[in-house]
Amino acid sequence: MKINRLLGIFQNKVLEKAYFDQFFESSMGFLKRSLLMLGILYALFLIPDWFFLRPHADFVWAFFNRSLFLGLMMILYIWLRFGTGFTLYPVIMLLTEIAVSLLFVQMFVVYQKSGDLMIQFLGMICVILGIFLIPNRAVYHLISTGISGSAFIYHAVYTYQPEQFQSVAWILYVCIIIGISYVNAVRGNIYQRKQYINSMNLKEMLDMDPLTEIYNRQKFDDELMKYLASIEDERVATIMFDIDDFKKVNDEFGHLEGDRVLKKVSKIARRMVRDRDVLARWGGEEFIILMPYAGKLEAYSVAERIRIEIEKEFSVEGRVVTCSFGVTEISRNDNFEAIMKRVDGYLYEAKAKGKNHTTVY
Ligand code: GH3
Ligand code: MG
Ligand code: MG
Repeated sequence: MKINRLLGIFQNKVLEKAYFDQFFESSMGFLKRSLLMLGILYALFLIPDWFFLRPHADFVWAFFNRSLFLGLMMILYIWLRFGTGFTLYPVIMLLTEIAVSLLFVQMFVVYQKSGDLMIQFLGMICVILGIFLIPNRAVYHLISTGISGSAFIYHAVYTYQPEQFQSVAWILYVCIIIGISYVNAVRGNIYQRKQYINSMNLKEMLDMDPLTEIYNRQKFDDELMKYLASIEDERVATIMFDIDDFKKVNDEFGHLEGDRVLKKVSKIARRMVRDRDVLARWGGEEFIILMPYAGKLEAYSVAERIRIEIEKEFSVEGRVVTCSFGVTEISRNDNFEAIMKRVDGYLYEAKAKGKNHTTVY
């Protein structure tokens, strides 16, 4: 889970993409509204343009500039509103940031005859801070503000012909503002990524049984409900199993030994199931497995393998621990209660047949 402290991103690309996708989705509303408002606000400045620039051909330039800006914002808005798949978002946003900030600088050029240097500097600060507000990689903000900052300094030095020390001071201040914004953005990014990891860990903990470190009943319920909602032609099976005469283990060797047996049984079962299967502790010494893309015969053979493996591994220790299994397949029109009742019934039958047995229907 290493975070690059210079760029404020996860070093692991897959994790970074997962993080960015959910971050992007949660900032989408803010982003869309901001783009639209910014476009409209910038276009409204045509009113002062009309009064300040009208006698000159400069007004045409201003009109052209503001229309382009508004058009760009509208296209982006429509893309975010109706588009699908935003993998190119960071790069498209980087190009937009560059285009938009250069349009700002061009506006300063348009205003140079009636311009005021201080107003333009304040405007440039707003542009830099505004760009850093856009949800995107901090390093992309650095690139775009670097480009527009340089263009601005070039314009300011060219137009206002300052003393040399003044030029140096201007450059320094623009760099400092960009630098502060960047450090601030990276720190924010690191903090958000840490929070993301924490929330993922917390979510994982909520799904886990602390003793056996396999999933808990809640997680199994959630997954089964999910499958029931989406099941079509694929086969799904479930296995329920229960340790035989577990009470005796507790009574003879104590609860700590009972806990150790529970852990070992879980570990063996986990080894025998596939990654996509959901193995959970149903409660006490009962376990349940959800097996997507498996029919009842496949599930039966998995149950048998677990049953034999448990018997074998404990007999090595010189102790008798066995389990009984019920197996059933889930059909499209099944419901939660019916499935649980069925599989519990088959488990009960396995017990009735003398335990250490698997029943399937
Ligand atoms: P059967 O073969 O019919 O399943 O008999 P059994 O003794 O396994 O079944 P029973 O339901 O009578 O007993 C289950 C026992 O499991 C009772 C309870 O004390 C014990 N148990 C439940 N949870 C835990 C646990 O977390 N740790 C330990 N050590 N024991 C537990
Ligand atoms: Mg039992
Ligand atoms: Mg039991």
